[in-house]
Amino acid sequence: MNDFTGLRALVTGGASGIGRATAALLAARGAAVAVLDADTTAVGEPFLPVRADVTDDASVRAAVTAAVAGLGGLDILVNNAGIGAQGTVEDNDDAEWHRVLDVNVVGMVRVARAALPHLRRSRHAAIVNTSSVAATAGLPQRVLYSATKGAVQSLTLAMAADHVREGIRVNCVNPGTVDTPWIGRLLDRAPDPAAERAALEARQPTGRLVTAEEVAAAIAHLAGPYSGATTGTSLAVDGGMQGLRLRPA
Ligand code: NAD
Repeated sequence: MNDFTGLRALVTGGASGIGRATAALLAARGAAVAVLDADTTAVGEPFLPVRADVTDDASVRAAVTAAVAGLGGLDILVNNAGIGAQGTVEDNDDAEWHRVLDVNVVGMVRVARAALPHLRRSRHAAIVNTSSVAATAGLPQRVLYSATKGAVQSLTLAMAADHVREGIRVNCVNPGTVDTPWIGRLLDRAPDPAAERAALEARQPTGRLVTAEEVAAAIAHLAGPYSGATTGTSLAVDGGMQGLRLRPA
C-alpha cells in the first residue's frame, strides 16, 4: 500500500464524487489534503477547503496559495474538476464549446500552472489528471465531452515530458461510468431513469457501474511513491469498456 504520511495533496472537484473519494482515501493513508472546489460548503474535517472556480485564474492562484500555506507545501495535485456535455457537433454551439473546454481543459492547465512552482520543491511530486474512457472509446452523443477528455490525455503526456527531469510525474485515469452525484443528475433527467441506468451498466463489460472508491484507488496508486517509475500513462478504470471487445454469445 502506498503510504502518504507526510505528503500534501490538493484535490480539485474534491467536494463530490471521484474527487471526494480521492481526498478521503489520501487522508486515510496519511496525507494532509486540501480540497479545491467551486462549492466547498460540504467539505468538513480533516480537509482544508479552498474555494475557487477553475475558470477564474485569479481565484485558482489564490486557492493554490492558500492550500500551500495551509498544508506547508505541495506534493500531489489531483486535477479532477470537470463537467459533462451531451450531443453531436450539431447540438453544441460555440459558447457551449468554450464553456466546457474552459472547465475541463483550461481549468486543469490553470491549476497545474499555479501548482508547479510548489511541486518542484517536493521530493515526491505527482500530478494525476482525470480524463475518461470517452477520450478513446468513441461514445455517441458525447462529442464535446470526449474532445475535452482527449485533450486531457494529450495534456497529460505533454506535461509528463516537460517535467520528467524535474522529478514531477504526470499521469491520468480514464474512468468508465462512475456512480457519482454526476450520474445521479443524468439519470434524474432521463425519461426512464431505471432503464437508463440499466443501459449504462450494460455498456460496461463488468455489467455494473464503477465506484468512486475504485477510481480513487487508481488515482492514489498513480500519485503515490510506489509509482515512482510511472509517468505519461493513462490507467483505465472502466469495467473493461475500453480494452475488451465482448460480443453476445
Ligand atoms: P461530480 O459532479 O460528482 O463532482 C465534480 C466536482 O467538481 C463538484 O464538486 C463540482 O462542484 C466541481 N466543479 C465543477 N466545475 C467546477 C469549476 N468550474 N471549478 C471548481 N470546481 C468545479 O462529478 P464526478 O463524477 O466526481 O466527476 C469528476 C471528474 O471525473 C470529472 O472530471 C469527470 O469528467 C470525470 N469523469 C466522471 C465520470 C463519471 O461517470 N462520473 C466518468 C469519467 C470521468
